[in-house]
Amino acid sequence: MGFFPVVGWAERGGSTASGHGNSVPRFHITWGTGPGLVHPFASRLRRGIAEGQARYRPRHRVTALATAEGRVVGAHGEVLAEDNAPRGVASHRNALGTFHVEAGAVIVASGGIGGNHELVRENWPDRLPPAPKEMLSGVPAHVDGLMLKIAEDAGATLVNTDRMWHYTEGITNHSPVWPAHGIRILPGPSSLWLDATGKRMPPPALPGFDTLGTLDQILKTGYDHSWFILTQRIIEKEFALSGSEQNPDLTGKSIRELLKQRLGSGAPGPVQAFIDRGVDFLHATDLDSLISQMQANTDAPLNGDAVRQAVYQRDSAYDNKFTKDLQLAAIRDARHYVGDKLIRVAPPHRLLEPKAGPLYAVKLHVLTRKSLGGIQTDLQGRVIGNDGAPIPGLFSAGEVSGFGGGGIHGYRALEGTFVGGCIFSGRTAGRAAAEHTEG
Ligand SMILES: Cc1cc2nc3c(=O)[nH]c(=O)nc-3n(C[C@H](O)[C@H](O)[C@H](O)COP(=O)(O)OP(=O)(O)OC[C@H]3O[C@@H](n4cnc5c(N)ncnc54)[C@H](O)[C@@H]3O)c2cc1C
Repeated sequence: MGFFPVVGWAERGGSTASGHGNSVPRFHITWGTGPGLVHPFASRLRRGIAEGQARYRPRHRVTALATAEGRVVGAHGEVLAEDNAPRGVASHRNALGTFHVEAGAVIVASGGIGGNHELVRENWPDRLPPAPKEMLSGVPAHVDGLMLKIAEDAGATLVNTDRMWHYTEGITNHSPVWPAHGIRILPGPSSLWLDATGKRMPPPALPGFDTLGTLDQILKTGYDHSWFILTQRIIEKEFALSGSEQNPDLTGKSIRELLKQRLGSGAPGPVQAFIDRGVDFLHATDLDSLISQMQANTDAPLNGDAVRQAVYQRDSAYDNKFTKDLQLAAIRDARHYVGDKLIRVAPPHRLLEPKAGPLYAVKLHVLTRKSLGGIQTDLQGRVIGNDGAPIPGLFSAGEVSGFGGGGIHGYRALEGTFVGGCIFSGRTAGRAAAEHTEG
């Protein structure tokens, strides 16, 4: 597995040295993105299949775990009809028949719950304002969380199910692959963040700083969305989009394309596609026209004077080199890191600087993504039962167990370290399951 050499600085956190968040840049992008990450595992599995060591059963949907005398001994389910849906597109669930497999050990690794908004709402934490009425899905439909109840029915304990990681910078995909498909903007620090009424949100609600704190602030307004205001200069340098199809240069491992997209002039192709076709992207050459468009695109009482004031005050703080505006200080600080300076943070400028324009307003939605609780396990990936002891024969790994254990990785998981937890917990559970079977 290879990595893109410029390490990103995700989730800078809650403002103080001892607060949560990443103190250093540590967001490594896999060379080849998701497919590049899966490749080494898939090729080993293919070899195993060819050598008769493994059997692969696609279109087999588990509906229950088989138990006998307090042990898990296999799984039951439906065999689904073939469906050649492209990657990420929801496939049908037409069952042709049923299946039953017996196994010395079963590992549940069925992923999170973000594609099932009903389950997301059911598990919504009391510590946050109520769940948004509208959300976008940052994961495919198969991320349905149904295996949680199936594991529970087999005796598994679920913990910390209200720990979820929803992004606040979701945009409606202009070419959706799955239902309510949203894309997350991985923002640099310069966009001005306004709530649905047009008021500037206070730190730590700065782009790329504090996902859960910002979610709390947005929902406290009683509305589901917020706005970025930015310039052409910022969008060109600071908008990165999450997802393999949004990063064809990295996914296709093309250095030529990468240099063109990230260092060439204009916005990267996938960002430009959103500017051209995304329903959440508005632009204008002057602030008043932009505000009129924003008002025409919201049900919230967006106060034009509040927006003007936020922009003017931010720009006058830019003129003061001793600024007390924390966002401007953060932008200047970010440029001390060479990786950010090179490809992620635009040189500071006034938002109303005509040469930096046009101006953009981007409507941001809450986007479901990750589950940080789930099936409780011990440090060997053994699933814990209702009596507090491991259930013989049952193991769990990955996002369904909150990236290992049902919370082992903490509520925030330091952002960007989720997949690492999946791989690590998968290896741990795999080794323990093999030992259990041999034993
Ligand atoms: C667009 C996007 C960007 C992301 N970016 C990052 C990132 O930058 N960094 C990071 O760390 N993480 C990132 N993540 C999160 C990370 O990819 C996931 O947390 C991780 O892939 C989960 O892996 P998993 O193996 O636990 O589950 P999954 O990859 O969801 O696999 C679960 C599998 O179980 C199957 N399954 C489910 N139920 C059943 C059933 N009943 N019967 C049979 N099979 C079943 C599913 O079909 C699926 O194949 C991103 C996710 C998305 C969608």
